[in-house]
Amino acid sequence: MTIKEKIEALRRELREHNHKYYVLASPTISDYEFDMKLKELQALEEQHPEFMDATSPTMRVGGAVTKNFETVVHEHRMYSLDNSYSKEELLDWEKRVLRILGDSAVSFTCELKYDGASISLTYENGELVRGVTRGDGFQGDDVTANIRTIKSVPLKLRGDFPSKFDVRGEIVLPIDGFAKMNEERINNGEDPYMNPRNTAAGSLKLQDSSLVAERPLECLLYGITGSNLNFLSQFEMLLKAREWGFKVPSAAKLCKTTEEVMEFLEYWDTERHNLPYETDGVVVKVNNLQQQEELGYTAKSPRWALAYKFKTEQAVTILNKISYQVGRTGAITPVANLEPVLLAGTTVKRASLHNADQIAKLDIREGDTVYVEKGGEIIPKIVGVDLSKRPLHSIPTRYITNCPECGTELIRKAGEAQHFCPNESSCPPQITGRIQHFISRKALDIEGLGSETVELLYNEGLIKNYADLYTLTKEQLMPLERMAEKSAENLIKGVAASVNIPFERVLFGLGIRYVGETVAKKLAKAYKNIDALMAATASELEMVDEIGERIAESTVNFFSEEKNRDIINRLKEYGLQFSLTDEQLEGQTEKLKGQIFVVSGVFEKISRTELKKNIEDNGGKVSSSISSKTSYIVAGANMGPSKKEKADKLAIPIISEDDFLAMIK
Ligand code: AMP
Ligand code: ZN
Repeated sequence: MTIKEKIEALRRELREHNHKYYVLASPTISDYEFDMKLKELQALEEQHPEFMDATSPTMRVGGAVTKNFETVVHEHRMYSLDNSYSKEELLDWEKRVLRILGDSAVSFTCELKYDGASISLTYENGELVRGVTRGDGFQGDDVTANIRTIKSVPLKLRGDFPSKFDVRGEIVLPIDGFAKMNEERINNGEDPYMNPRNTAAGSLKLQDSSLVAERPLECLLYGITGSNLNFLSQFEMLLKAREWGFKVPSAAKLCKTTEEVMEFLEYWDTERHNLPYETDGVVVKVNNLQQQEELGYTAKSPRWALAYKFKTEQAVTILNKISYQVGRTGAITPVANLEPVLLAGTTVKRASLHNADQIAKLDIREGDTVYVEKGGEIIPKIVGVDLSKRPLHSIPTRYITNCPECGTELIRKAGEAQHFCPNESSCPPQITGRIQHFISRKALDIEGLGSETVELLYNEGLIKNYADLYTLTKEQLMPLERMAEKSAENLIKGVAASVNIPFERVLFGLGIRYVGETVAKKLAKAYKNIDALMAATASELEMVDEIGERIAESTVNFFSEEKNRDIINRLKEYGLQFSLTDEQLEGQTEKLKGQIFVVSGVFEKISRTELKKNIEDNGGKVSSSISSKTSYIVAGANMGPSKKEKADKLAIPIISEDDFLAMIK
């Protein structure tokens, strides 16, 4: 087998596994095996850039950065849909359709209406060439680089497809993935996202495609446009799209009669709550494409389709009490404690009130009768108050001014929605929260120790911070309630084993505000050990790719506190990892030390991600914008004209890819 054949075979195999995993949801190999094969392919492609291919499965990790999304005119307009809110309206529409067609033999394809961001994907000769947002329906933004990272979007098609066509679909964020993203944000002290739909739409407009790659987005398909298409009906179209490798939800159904359409609506009105993603209705479409053409379009939407909107499930109940939770970072979350009520199949006792502004805006008070709704959020939310049921002597809610746990006066920074308890050092839930974060799976992953045990240890006065975990003895643990000899031993073993956890995860575990998993990795890589990191100033930190003012400031603040430095010194003594290992440092040099690079354009020999990695591996820094501090601009083809102008003005040397490679040789 030649190298080229080997590369192609690996690509084929990985594509197949991608399809099985992300489209069919039935993988046949483990994630580990998949990663190994992907790494093998990556290595081969790096050694043989002459076989580069934009449809390679290695392109899914992203890396391309788009500053301004180009406007693209849709070859076929992207229409809206007319809505109906009752079965009567739907029946009227069906009658109208029959009348216009003068035919009684009309069947319908019923599909779910996916709630996300619409997208149009262009395929030429079986390869994805472009992905464009709906925009105003006539023209949208070219978001191809971001679309490529979505695993259920095939980069290369299978089977017998037309040479050129557009597919239409919806980019959605499944509820599970959305909840996980928010959990992480709350953990990092950031405001949670409001709902999956806006987050999906926002994701498509992120400038850095590698950030999009990290989000669990999916693409659900519902239509194909083009000429010379070899199918006659909507339903056949869906089957074909599925054959070619697209994800077409299996809910779609061909309905021969009005009764069948009604059954579909009723079934999904309840069943939708068990779907992995959000849907707000059903789209009923005339099945026959010839008939669709005859019906045509109004100014805004097709006459051959109608969206039927489900009523949002609401429950009415009494708000008994507003309580306040304090998180690890001191963020206060108001919670509504409700009279238990059945909503979308589950009993709801608590609902989120988000923040002080939200409570004020809706004028929510204890004792009120409130409307509760369930969306993609982790817990349901209150959407309104029934003022006619408000008790006579009801008192407006006064948001707490002091921490419910430690009594400290709360603060609220300009531009932030959340109140904070500033008493980091002795507010109990902040202390235990930090320790719980330190031991969590993505940080030190300490086995044999759970959140409740942390609280117990703290309440018993055995630990005050995460460094104290390393001095715990069996004798101290044994007398505790529910602590058998075996579990005490496991706890101590788990703590001892954590000294081998790599530096970047220890750094994440320290719990610096805004320093999440990805940022911790970047900082560890840029500074290589904790001493160098602790010595960095805020403006130096900002030179690191993706580190902004907010993160830089919070990092400097953290290390400037004496008690944090003491804890780090203790952890060092206990043997935790505070620098990259020799293996991680391998291939790293100081050749570019002190130099700041800006990367612009498209490269031939190495990918942009690879280029950035090379800069960082050799001690240089990558910055996203040109300033007087920039040492070099590495320019590929199509360098942006505004960048060029700025570089010339500041007299910053522009070097080619080859010049750069020679520098690090
Ligand atoms: P609207 O935005 O309310 O006018 O609804 C039209 C949008 O619904 C389209 O742009 C699509 O992105 C979206 N949509 C979601 N699911 C479907 C589906 N099954 N068929 C057609 N359009 C859909
Ligand atoms: Zn407090």
